[in-house]
Parts: sequence; C-alpha cells; structure tokens
Amino acid sequence: MAGTEFFGAEERKEINDVLETGILFRYNHDAQRNNIWKAREFESEVAKLVGAKYAHAVSSGSTAVSCALAAAGIGAGDEVIVPPFTYIASVEAVIFAGALPVFAEIDETLCLSAEGIKKAITPKTKAVLLVHMCGQMANMDEIMAVINEHNLVLVEDAGQAMAASYKGVSTGLWGTTGCYSFDFFKIATAGEGGVMVTNNEIAYKLADNYADHGHDHIGNNRGMENHPVVGFNYRISELHAAVGLAQTRRVPMIREANNKHKRFMMAELGKIAGVNFATLPDPNGDSATFLNILLPDTNLAAKTVANFNENGVSGFNYWFTNMYHFINQWDHIKEGRVAAKTNVQLLGAPQDYKNLNLPKTQETIGRLISFSIKASWTDSELTELTSKIAASIQSAMQQSA
Ligand SMILES: *Cc1c(COP(=O)(O)O)cnc(C)c1O
Repeated sequence: MAGTEFFGAEERKEINDVLETGILFRYNHDAQRNNIWKAREFESEVAKLVGAKYAHAVSSGSTAVSCALAAAGIGAGDEVIVPPFTYIASVEAVIFAGALPVFAEIDETLCLSAEGIKKAITPKTKAVLLVHMCGQMANMDEIMAVINEHNLVLVEDAGQAMAASYKGVSTGLWGTTGCYSFDFFKIATAGEGGVMVTNNEIAYKLADNYADHGHDHIGNNRGMENHPVVGFNYRISELHAAVGLAQTRRVPMIREANNKHKRFMMAELGKIAGVNFATLPDPNGDSATFLNILLPDTNLAAKTVANFNENGVSGFNYWFTNMYHFINQWDHIKEGRVAAKTNVQLLGAPQDYKNLNLPKTQETIGRLISFSIKASWTDSELTELTSKIAASIQSAMQQSA
C-alpha cells in the first residue's frame, strides 16, 4: 500500500508546484497557472503505466466506476452482472447508474468466472462489471469468450489491480472502459482519487464530459463551453492529482518488490500440506499487493485467523466476515435500505438478493485469508512474518487433525 509506505520529497515537490501558483482547479486559468497541469500529467502517467490510449482522472475510484459505466452506455434498467466479492463501490455504482446488479459466482481467481457469468445471463443482461480482486486478475481468455459470444459490454473495475495484467494487456483495458482507485489503501494513492481508462475515443470523451457537468472542454472560456451530455461533478483537484502523479511513478518499483516478497512467501508457505493460493491466470502479471492464501476449508481458515490474533500476527483480511467486501454482510443491499428510491425498488430486483445461491463463492471466500504485502519490508521482516504465518497455520491444522 504505497500511500501508507512511501510519501516523500517527490510527492511534496508535485504538491508545491501547485501551491506556488495557487491554481487548484484542473481547467482554465491559463495565464496564472504557469503551465502547471497536474491532472493532465497524472492522466498521462497512468496511461503510460498501463498502456492505455486515454485516461481521465476523477475524485475517487467509486466515481471512476460511475464514469466507466456511463461512458460504456450502461444505464437505467440494464442488468449488470457483478461479483458478490468486491469492494461495495462496484455494486453501488451499478445501482446509482439506475441499473440492476445481478450477482454471479466467482472462482479461485477471486474474480467472476466465465461459468458463473454464463449462468447469470438473462435476455435483459447488458453488461458485466468484472472486478479484479486482491491485486490479481481474472481469467480473461475464458471471460472474453463469453462476453463475445453473448454480445455483452465489458466494464472492468480494477480498483485494486492497477498495474496487474493478463498476457501483457493491463487490467482495465480488456473492456470498453475500465478504472482504478487511488484511495489511501491502493497500490498508489492520491489521498482520494480515481482514473478511468479506455482505448475508445468516444468513451473517453463521454467520460471527460460526464465527470464535469457535461462540459466539452473546448476553448478556454468555461462559461461558453457546450454540453454534449448531461453530467455531474466528479472532478479531481490539482492537489490530489499532484500526489497521484508522484505515486504513479513509484508503481513499477512497488510492483517488483511486491512480487519478490509474494514469491518468497508462496514458496515457503506452499511447503505446508493443504496450503494453496488463489489462482493466478497469469503469474507474470500480478501486482502482488496481496498474498491470497486458500486453506482446505472454512473451519481451518477461522481457526488460523484465531491463531493469528492470539499470536499477534496482523496485516491480514478475512473477507468472509469483513463488513464491506463480501455479500454475506451486505444487509442494506439485500433489504433495499436506501435514502431514496432506486431502480432496484422501482423495477424490482432481478434476483432474490436475500436468498442467493452462490455455493462456489461461499466456499472460496470461506477459505481465503489475504495478507497485504508491503514493498518496504526488510528481509528480516519478511522472513519473520512468513514463519509466524506458517506456525499459526500449522497449529490450526494440528488442532483439527
Ligand atoms: C477501492 C475500490 C473502489 C473504490 O475506490 P474509492 O477510491 O475508495 O472510491 C472500487 N472498486 C474496487 C474494486 C476497489 O477496491
């Protein structure tokens, strides 16, 4: 988690550039800004990192998902297939687009599976919102085959998987649109921020307009601009963009260190009989922000978690009981508790959210424990943590033997 690990002279320099001019707004003010355009530079840096033709920075990863959906033409009444294991923003974005979330099965990649998507398709299915979870990537060959066969729109929420790729193509660039989060807990942070990416010029222009009240951003007189579409304010400020820019430049270094640490941990912990890891469809494309351990069953995972707590091992997530990454705890969604009516209430839920049958997802998340990997770990921190994890797992296995 770069934001919490690395914050230094590079970030301060980019912020200071903005403070020198006092122009905190990303558009206009050409005469006063002394050619400082941090949002634009941030977008170029992200586009370069992932190999995208276009990138548009916004105020958060959540608003980036909204832009990605809108720019891909997903809206009122569309059924959108989503995973039951994701940061809840993905599901919220579908709901606030006026669309209807349909939950489908994930598999050991921790992402929607091709089979899960196929089973959830109905005549009303318009799109799949594929979420690349825990720094890894979905099995794109299998998923693209289903998307193409059924003529669906693919939108990727790579909120936690920027800088991950599958067979050389970055997460976020397989779909019509994709997006990344730069909140404080991602591989790079802007404090708060997000970036929508696409190789499609029309989608890019739509996102650019949509994220700023529909402004077309042509010319340098904001009051005289045209409005090709209705939009809203999802803008990023120059200060946040400045941080995001400096952080994005650190990502190749972070990814390399993360991968080195993850490989060591997998080699060591893999020696324990019964310990497996989430499937990596492309092991060379991992952003390695998480070590994703799969234990033989939920019972053993729960025992291991208890041992971690007892032995003072920290830095892990047991998503099965986590309040906002897993559907078992999303009572507000299941019960339709909303501030104001959405299309789920108006048109009716496409599934019985209270009685979903997702056994593969349940058993997979029940077995999963994810450790945040730090690029800044020293060798001794890495070996010490790894042996503590091993000891806790081994004693859980002995307890249940
Ligand atoms: C973090 C995250 C988001 C939301 O990003 P914010 O910047 O916190 O709004 C969306 N989707 C996924 C998968 C995420 O992990």
